[in-house]
Amino acid sequence: IIRICDLHKYFGDNQVLRGIDLDIMPGEKVVILGPSGSGKSTMLRCINALEEATSGHIYVNDVDITSPSTDINKVREHLGMVFQRFNLWPHKTVLENVALAPKLVSKVDKASAEKKALEMLKRVGLADKANAYPASLSGGQQQRVAIARGLAMEPRAMLFDEPTSALDPELVGEVLKVMTDLAKSGMTMVVVTHEINFAREVADRVIFMDGGVIVEQGNPEDVLMHPKEERTKTFLKRVL
Ligand code: ATP
Ligand code: MG
Repeated sequence: IIRICDLHKYFGDNQVLRGIDLDIMPGEKVVILGPSGSGKSTMLRCINALEEATSGHIYVNDVDITSPSTDINKVREHLGMVFQRFNLWPHKTVLENVALAPKLVSKVDKASAEKKALEMLKRVGLADKANAYPASLSGGQQQRVAIARGLAMEPRAMLFDEPTSALDPELVGEVLKVMTDLAKSGMTMVVVTHEINFAREVADRVIFMDGGVIVEQGNPEDVLMHPKEERTKTFLKRVL
């Protein structure tokens, strides 16, 4: 569903991605680990065309998003993205935040966009907050709204970039619970996180990145419990 071929990315002279190859299957849950600066966010942002690849190819649903003739907005409709910061519109209600993209992008009418939005809010356990404003919600609730917003476009895959690392520790669990439920529903997920337990329980595959390359990957048991590479061992010793 997502295929990355020999992806390189430079920011000026700084080579951030040094040849990434990755193939993500429909329904697969991939967790990406790696030290700060290893290029995890840059890779996710390239998948969503928020960053332009310097070279290489990225296919989403067999469409080459690095090709200049591709309509990036069409590609983005198929990918929901959740960031560390929730970026909700402060002057719109929770329901409006979730309904906005389907209304603008897919041009569905207001009533069906809001019906869909309410369905997604139910899914993340926040139907009762539909008419609240983001500022009145906890960080965990805001992040769940951001997940509902990502789901409202009925994406083929959801990308998460450290969705819990800006949250107070007591709010992390409710967001991971929503993500775990989403995983059980069969959604394809690519998740950058330092939550090792989430990786162990939910991931089909764990990828360890360092210095702009994939150093090691495999099932969670192998990578987390029996890493082969020295760099993976050192990293895990620090985070476990
Ligand atoms: P973290 O765990 O801290 O989020 P990361 O693995 O997500 O780290 P990236 O954010 O992908 O790492 O950054 C990789 C490198 O790319 C860093 O050296 C960073 O300074 C650089 N970089 C990222 N975004 C930009 C940008 N927009 N312009 C210039 N350099 C950037
Ligand atoms: Mg990052």
